[in-house]
Amino acid sequence: MRALLFSAFGGELSVQDVPSPDPPQDGVVVEVGATGVCRSDWHGWQGHDPDIVLPHVPGHELAGTVAGVGDDVTRWSVGDRVTVPFVCACGRCAQCLAGDHQVCAAQRQPGFTHWGSFASHVALDAADVNLVALPDGMSFATAASLGCRYATSYRAVVQQGRVAAGEHVVVYGCGGVGLSAIQIAVAMGASVLAVDISPAALDLAESFGARPVTGGVEAVREATDGGAHLSLDALGSPQTCVDAVLSLRPRGRHVQVGLLPPSQGRPLVPMERVVAMELELLGSHGMAAHAYPALLDLVVSGRLRPDLLVTREVGLEDAAQALAEVGRAPGITVITSF
Ligand SMILES: [Zn+2]
Ligand SMILES: [Zn+2]
Repeated sequence: MRALLFSAFGGELSVQDVPSPDPPQDGVVVEVGATGVCRSDWHGWQGHDPDIVLPHVPGHELAGTVAGVGDDVTRWSVGDRVTVPFVCACGRCAQCLAGDHQVCAAQRQPGFTHWGSFASHVALDAADVNLVALPDGMSFATAASLGCRYATSYRAVVQQGRVAAGEHVVVYGCGGVGLSAIQIAVAMGASVLAVDISPAALDLAESFGARPVTGGVEAVREATDGGAHLSLDALGSPQTCVDAVLSLRPRGRHVQVGLLPPSQGRPLVPMERVVAMELELLGSHGMAAHAYPALLDLVVSGRLRPDLLVTREVGLEDAAQALAEVGRAPGITVITSF
C-alpha cells in the first residue's frame, strides 16, 4: 500500500510503498476513502505523543470501506462503509462497561498507538465495539470530517458542556475544532462569540453564525453581560485556556478541547476563581461509537453541516505539505486520493 511515513520526529515526511496490514483477530482493515489532517497528527509528528514508535504513519480521522475482517468480528463484512472514533475502545474495561468508551483504559488510537490512515489501508482494533456505519449518501470526506474534531466538539458542547438555547458561549481558537464547536453551539440555539488572532478564521466563524470578538477577556465579558455560561478552549494553549476560564460568569462551565502538550508549559488556571465562582472545569476526549447515531441524524437532517468545514481536498502526495501547514489556513484539509 501507499502510505505517508516519517522516520524521525519533525523529520522528512515521504510517500512510500509498504506492506498492507492484516486485520487483527477482533478487528478489520479499512480501505481509506478519506482522512482528515489534524493538529493532533502534527503534534505526533513533532514528537509530542509518547505512544508513537518510529517509523510511523499518522492519520486518525478516517472513513472508508471494510476490506478485510478478523475471525472474531461478528457485526461487519467486507464492503461495509464505516467510520470510527479516534479512541478505539477495548469494550471490556470498567470505563467501557459503563459506556464511557472515549476514556477506555486500554484504548488504541490509529495514527498514534499504531499506523494510521495517511495510507490506502489501515487496521482497526475491536471492530464490533468501535466501527460506525455511515448513512447512505454521506460522503467519505464528510464522514472523515466528523472524525475527531467534530465528534469531540459535539461531545464538548452538547454532552460535557450541556449547552442550552439562549446561553452565551465563547470559543477560543477557530481552527477545525473551534469552527465545529461554533456550528454545533449555534445549531443548539446558543449565542456564540469567537476569538482568534486570524481575521480569516474569524470571517469563517462569522459565516457559521458566531460574533467575532477582539479585545480579550474584558471584551468577552462585556459582550456576554458579565461572562459566558460556557467557554471552550479549542486551540489548546496555556493562554487561551486561562482566558477561556476567565471569560466565565459565576457557575459557568469551561470545557478544554484543544490538546495542551506539557512541553508548551502548563496553564496557570486561577483556581481561587474556580472556588469563589463555583466554576466547572471539564475535559472532552472524543466520543464513543455508540453516541454517533444522534450526531449522524443531525448531519443527515441538515441541522449540522460538517461538510462546510472541509475547505481543501488533496491527494496523499500533498499530505506532507498539508500536515506541515495545518492550522495556517482556516477550515479542514481532507486527503481523498491515495
Ligand atoms: Zn475499555
Ligand atoms: Zn484529529
